Amino acid sequence: MRFEDQRLRLLEDIKASGITDPAVLSAFSKIPREDYVLPEFKEYAYRNRPLPISMEQTISQPSMIAIMMSELKLKPSDRVLEIGTGSGYQTALLASIVKEVCTVELHDSLSLGAQKILKAAGFKNIYYRIGDGWAGWEKAYPAYKEFDKIVVSAAAEEVPSRLCEQLAEGGIMVVPVGGSLSQILHIIVREEGMLKTRQAYPCAFVPLVKKVK
Ligand code: SAH
Repeated sequence: MRFEDQRLRLLEDIKASGITDPAVLSAFSKIPREDYVLPEFKEYAYRNRPLPISMEQTISQPSMIAIMMSELKLKPSDRVLEIGTGSGYQTALLASIVKEVCTVELHDSLSLGAQKILKAAGFKNIYYRIGDGWAGWEKAYPAYKEFDKIVVSAAAEEVPSRLCEQLAEGGIMVVPVGGSLSQILHIIVREEGMLKTRQAYPCAFVPLVKKVK
């Protein structure tokens, strides 16, 4: 089956799992996941499952990305902070919807690989930082202090406090919190200065490597 047809079938699976946000569905219909997986896994690109990328990391499961993106209630005017660039697939999905995406990746080889694909795909609204996601968007260009939305694509042992500080008023953050085997997706909103947390879905991500002291 052609990649385009496989992509439409994945889209149907994502719809069947209850995702209705038109912006999210449109992004999944446009972004070619086969471009972001390793060559040896291209034939599995549209399975609804995580796949290995380099540095023992994984490209996230499409339905999980769809849930996180729906929870973010993305708007075209949003500035989004993404922690864990990885393959760059979710970065592309986000950047096809919102104004700007600032993305942080610990491993330089993964970030540089993602940058190459995303630049070749024509994205001009993505900024990259190689470094520790626990610190968020610090010492990075552009010198943004706050974000409308924050998405963490790796499992944090606890909610990263520096990321909470970078969440704008009215903002939403999604972050998997828990141990190495399973976590709970936390949806955190900032309302009138206060953070409110909802523990939403069980999930399984690779760990957000702890670096900041
Ligand atoms: N959304 C990506 C997910 C990649 S997996 C995709 O679909 O491809 C999670 C990523 O988080 C990995 O690339 C891993 O290297 C990165 N990561 C782990 N710990 C990190 C940290 N402390 N700071 C930044 N990135 C981190």
